[in-house]
Amino acid sequence: MVIRDTVLLGDPRLREIAEPVIFDKKLPQMLEDLKDTLTEHQRVYGMGRGIAAPQIGYNKRAVYVNTPGYTSYLINPEIVWRSPDTFEVWDSCFSMEAKFFVKITRNRSIKVKYVDSEQVFHNETFSDGMSELLQHEIDHLDGIMCSDRLSDPRNIAMRQEWEKRYRSTGLGM
Ligand SMILES: [Zn+2]
Repeated sequence: MVIRDTVLLGDPRLREIAEPVIFDKKLPQMLEDLKDTLTEHQRVYGMGRGIAAPQIGYNKRAVYVNTPGYTSYLINPEIVWRSPDTFEVWDSCFSMEAKFFVKITRNRSIKVKYVDSEQVFHNETFSDGMSELLQHEIDHLDGIMCSDRLSDPRNIAMRQEWEKRYRSTGLGM
């Protein structure tokens, strides 16, 4: 079990364009680290549904998602379609230690092409909570943080205030 240090906002590694994953001998270690680290985060923070490889220091295009209805690795994911319909969500990130939340706009539905850890190809449509989660995680692979998506800098809240006022309305991280 390896819990990797989380790369925090301000670290230039979060701003790099991640490289495509190649299925080689080293890949299983990275996938295990992603799973172990997200599991630990969920325990410590009491929240969190996904993690991207650049957040634990791997400059690779891989994401791990663990939600009640869906658990998978998404390797080399690509958003190939976005619905014109959008919605607002309160978002945060382990790379911000979930200390503050930002209200941003995401596409209601997206279509994602990816390969899973068994090298099975997928082309799936995701909506609502899964849509905004995957937009967040795939943004990490392009060096984009959820806070970059703030169109109004007033739409920011410390975690305590978000818990008190918005947790019931927002989807969180
Ligand atoms: Zn994040």
